[in-house]
Amino acid sequence: MILAVYKKKRDFAKTPEPKGKIVKSKKGLIFVVHEHWARSHHYDFRMEIDGVLKSWAVPKNLPRKVGEKRLAVQVEDHPLEYGSFEGVIPGGQYGAGKVKIWDKGKLEIKEKTPNSIKFILYGKKLKGNFSIFHPPTFEKKSWLLVRK
Ligand code: MN
Repeated sequence: MILAVYKKKRDFAKTPEPKGKIVKSKKGLIFVVHEHWARSHHYDFRMEIDGVLKSWAVPKNLPRKVGEKRLAVQVEDHPLEYGSFEGVIPGGQYGAGKVKIWDKGKLEIKEKTPNSIKFILYGKKLKGNFSIFHPPTFEKKSWLLVRK
């Protein structure tokens, strides 16, 4: 079931995060990068695909220089509404800590296979061509994000 993992990990009576339903954004695809002060500080890159936000935790944030690569660990799909979420996930809850939007904007998908996506970001900070792919020798959830 879509978003089942997302819902299972959270107690919506306690966290201010969106409960999540499947909706498509009306004005084209979006992406968001959250800065997340969880147990370890990291960034979460999320892009809209098939009505949800496909999500990866990117410890060192997205690459800014052409040719740079960053490890991205895939996490559960998030609801599209999460794209505007900012707040504090309370202690004891999954992902406890402050969540802030670091960048967001439009997204254009150029090419997509099960193990690779080529896309363009039109954010305030992130602009240009990127790709994310899952190298066959890597662990199941480990991907590489590349600034093209
Ligand atoms: Mn996170």
